[in-house]
Amino acid sequence: MGALGEGPRRLRDRQSRCLYCGLLADRVATLDYDWVLLEPEMEPLAHTVPAEHRWIVLSDGRVTVYGVCPPDPFQRCRIEHRLACSAQPLPDLWPWLTSLRVENGRQVERQKDPESPQPPETLPDTG
Ligand SMILES: [Zn+2]
Repeated sequence: MGALGEGPRRLRDRQSRCLYCGLLADRVATLDYDWVLLEPEMEPLAHTVPAEHRWIVLSDGRVTVYGVCPPDPFQRCRIEHRLACSAQPLPDLWPWLTSLRVENGRQVERQKDPESPQPPETLPDTG
């Protein structure tokens, strides 16, 4: 399905400059009749990229998010330039991990709160 395995012949995508950092990135049409700026010369293994950020190139040159889960271990993908752009904030790549961090933060706050019952540091003196 993807065209990445078709050898050295690879359509040179149109390039555009990133509006934030000014570097060149590949401007590629998506299946949704939109455009996405992809990081040039960068095709990491799909399983090393968070699921919603794996773009694969189709035979017609357009790209779409690679939805196969779990990903083929040898599948390569492309990533959006904004993930690699030094002038843009990094989006939330691992939302479940962010939720866990927030929840752990709340747990820390609860432990600091004097109103909430504290877990006993030592066994109560019953003697
Ligand atoms: Zn940029």
